[in-house]
Amino acid sequence: MNYITTYQPMDISFSHGAGHYLWDSQGKKYFDALCGIAVTSLGHNHPKITQAIQEQASKLLHTSNIFQITAQNELAEKLTALTQMKQVFFGNSGAEANEAAIKLARLYGHSKGIETPSIIVMEKAFHGRTMATLTASAGRKGQAGFEPLVPGFVRAPYNDIEAIDSIASNRDDIVAIMLEPIQGEGGINPPDPDYIPQLRKICDEKGWLLILDEIQTGLGRTGKLYNYMHYDIIPDIVTSAKALGNGVPIGACLMSGPACNLFQPGKHGSTFGGNPLACHTALTVLNVIESENLSENAQIMGDNLRHALIEKLCTMPEVRGIRGQGLMIGIELDRPCRDILPIALEHGILFSVTSESVLRLLPPITLCQEDVDIIAEKICDVITTYYD
Ligand code: PLP
Repeated sequence: MNYITTYQPMDISFSHGAGHYLWDSQGKKYFDALCGIAVTSLGHNHPKITQAIQEQASKLLHTSNIFQITAQNELAEKLTALTQMKQVFFGNSGAEANEAAIKLARLYGHSKGIETPSIIVMEKAFHGRTMATLTASAGRKGQAGFEPLVPGFVRAPYNDIEAIDSIASNRDDIVAIMLEPIQGEGGINPPDPDYIPQLRKICDEKGWLLILDEIQTGLGRTGKLYNYMHYDIIPDIVTSAKALGNGVPIGACLMSGPACNLFQPGKHGSTFGGNPLACHTALTVLNVIESENLSENAQIMGDNLRHALIEKLCTMPEVRGIRGQGLMIGIELDRPCRDILPIALEHGILFSVTSESVLRLLPPITLCQEDVDIIAEKICDVITTYYD
């Protein structure tokens, strides 16, 4: 193999998919409880998404942002209407959406006369692999060898309001707090229910931007279109990607309040960002989620799946915890467990291991109760076999 294998891929590839299933080149069928890491949330080969891609591909793929792009306008209208955010910048990935958010925070700081603006970021965070987003992410593993890192980030423990208060009283260069409303790569870590509202309050008091990275939590996965909608708050910046295109690359950085109008012409851009194919597909994704009540479905099926897993696994002392919200579920085992993945393949189910010892389930938000039963059964068999 002469392409760079930064992900240590498993020795398997898939020939096609339909709905919740993938087939490997030998014809074996797998339940996809990972969705390509929270991307194909509507399942594979969804008829409406396939039709949208075909329709747009047969009309127009790309013209550039030098011209008006109708599909981009339509998607921006829809996204802002659904989120109560006011403006949006489109790129091609999560990292790019977060880069835009970081640049906005710096512009915001400079607009207030802060010459070296800093952003509070979290322990165990993951925001991407570009220089600024890998600096914002936690974990020396991803950062080592890439020094000098980008200045302007201050790290705080996640879910710890006192730590934020302490930074607030010691520094006058902070302009924003950036975090995932549920940490994904960091091990599926939901915060306490009052954490995000309290952060909103601190940001209001201090004049900081609240930046929520909803790249993994967004598009219905946790039971609302975006996770912040579980709270009575509006963030200043929300970043979105992954499931927004159900597999067609697109990223979005949404702005409201003081984050609006900071990007003036020439301040940011992207050749591919907001292209007709990605935008028409994303618009269709949003329409499907809305018309089929899939956020609500994710909430119900997620609760059912978590309860089924708890019921089946609660007697195993090796299972340290089952947590999450909606269909973003982590099962923590008592040891580093990447070697469980080949057993999962044998049992015909796909999930990932994150943070060394957490099985991460990100199944399609289109699940029905029968699928929930299948996943719970297979996961239980995989874990039992692993410890046998
Ligand atoms: N932010 C979060 C919360 C993510 O989970 C990811 C990807 O896993 C990213 C950012 C980076 O997204 P991308 O890989 O599309 O650049």
